[in-house]
Amino acid sequence: MAISLDDLPIRDDLRGRSPYGAPTDKVPVALNVNENTHPIPEDVARDIVESVAKAVLEVNRYPDREFTELRESLARYLGHGIEAAGVWAANGSNEVIQQILQAFGGPGRTILGFPPTYSMHTIIASGTGTEWVSGQRDANFEISPATVVREIERADPDIVILCGPNNPTGTPLELATIEAAYNAARGIVLVDEAYAEFMPADKPTALTLLEGRPRLLVSRTMSKAFAFAGARVGYLAADPAVIDALRLVRLPYHLSSLTQAAAVAALRHAPEMLAMVDDIKGQRDRIVHVLTELGYEPYETWSNFVLFGGVDDPHAVFEQLLERGIIVRDLSIPGHLRVSAGTEAETGAFLDALRDIRLGA
Ligand SMILES: *Cc1c(COP(=O)(O)O)cnc(C)c1O
Repeated sequence: MAISLDDLPIRDDLRGRSPYGAPTDKVPVALNVNENTHPIPEDVARDIVESVAKAVLEVNRYPDREFTELRESLARYLGHGIEAAGVWAANGSNEVIQQILQAFGGPGRTILGFPPTYSMHTIIASGTGTEWVSGQRDANFEISPATVVREIERADPDIVILCGPNNPTGTPLELATIEAAYNAARGIVLVDEAYAEFMPADKPTALTLLEGRPRLLVSRTMSKAFAFAGARVGYLAADPAVIDALRLVRLPYHLSSLTQAAAVAALRHAPEMLAMVDDIKGQRDRIVHVLTELGYEPYETWSNFVLFGGVDDPHAVFEQLLERGIIVRDLSIPGHLRVSAGTEAETGAFLDALRDIRLGA
């Protein structure tokens, strides 16, 4: 007889847990995991392939364990006076976050987060044995400085994790809230800025707060704006001492030489790689506009997706869209669905299908 997970001597604190669950079915219009739906430009692809080809000739050797060239490239890309010594990278920002929890969380320690937020934050907490504590948000999923301070004083966490703009709601995160969190917390304050490039261009990010705040960490990813989700590259900006802490928990040579070569090549073409961001923001704003016309209630969003309420039966609408070859995200928030901004054609297909469904066509 086949045995199940429950029959295995798994850690007690992992019993009954669910793995990360975004469906991976191939659907013609995939607007469910906030990927950049635009392929990377062909000349950039060619440069990446050439760089990887060179690296392949040396894969008999371990890669640069300190991925120095990649950290220098990332520091240059980030600007704000950030230096390579204060930059770290891993196989996706999920791995960066896991390393942070390994170093600063773990058994007997707590992390305070603010649901609804990125589901991987709780999954990484459980994987590292860090106790998750849920903070309360204000109306419209916002977090005011007063609210963040109240929740930190209530929970006294070892780590505070804030997601700005927040996934799955798109909610902006004000710098005042981050500063208040930093001043109230005795431990690490991690800001997950996976969607920073989709913010209004004139709005400051948490990077501007790093100077003089050694417990503040800002994680980023090449998965979204950079159209690089399949390559698995995420990174962190923080005080160089924080980077030293991560060296204690990382596996040696965790970033392959192929990943390093591909990421360095992509960063050489940062403006081209980011050329689609404005287009995606335009599609996002178009979604907000049409959803409002259709009588739905989209939230303010600074990311490449839109959460909208006013959906009587989210599961039924999800299934009706799927029948039409379009997948969005049902996050089990009552009355809500989330959709990523696609290309102009994908966004049009989604909006047309939703209009048909809404009008009962
Ligand atoms: C997509 C996403 C990530 C990125 O994860 P990677 O491991 O870098 O692909 C991180 N944080 C949030 C909030 C996200 O939505």
